[in-house]
Amino acid sequence: MTETTTRLLIIGPPGAGKGTQAAQIAERFGVPAISTGDIFRANIKGGTELGQQVQAIIERGELVPDSLTNEIVADRLAQADAAGGFLLDGYPRNVEQVHALDGMIEGDALDAVVLLEVDTDAVVARLLKRAELEGRADDTEEVIRHRQDVYAEQTAPLVELFSERGILVSVDGLGSVEEVAERIASGLDAQLAAKAGR
Ligand code: AMP
Repeated sequence: MTETTTRLLIIGPPGAGKGTQAAQIAERFGVPAISTGDIFRANIKGGTELGQQVQAIIERGELVPDSLTNEIVADRLAQADAAGGFLLDGYPRNVEQVHALDGMIEGDALDAVVLLEVDTDAVVARLLKRAELEGRADDTEEVIRHRQDVYAEQTAPLVELFSERGILVSVDGLGSVEEVAERIASGLDAQLAAKAGR
């Protein structure tokens, strides 16, 4: 039988446009896009126990504790629609979470990690604009800058790790949604073809 499972991640600084691109990639590969940020926001909106636990943390731009985040992802990946693959957006965000994910998908390595590369100043400008439009509680200028720092300190080091694993696809995130989507598509095709040939 042919292997059709595709396990992907998209990584990049907050505001790089990951969510928009994630939706397109997921559709193209016929896998669910799983965003930990979306899961948390939905729980906050719904007033669930989880939502109450994470609301203040998210509003400060801090990371939700690993134990909680890992458990949520493990539950989500165990659902039927993720059996044929998935695209993770916003997880893993630190080395501890990478190890947790490795444990969850043991023996079924990730196929590719898309890195959306953008200039931090451009990103902050974009987030300030989004704050105006959507009014997210974690979109004040101070929190926006803090989230960039958290990314630089905790998440950016993962890029090296995925590069060493030979699964990193770096894409220039500057341009229209369509242009960036096109770059991601060709980068992923090359990576997946190379992997299939190994
Ligand atoms: P995002 O939409 O991915 O930018 O996530 C919004 C917020 O949710 C982040 O600033 C964190 O507070 C929290 N969050 C999302 N994903 C994670 C994660 N993998 N680990 C810890 N906190 C997370």
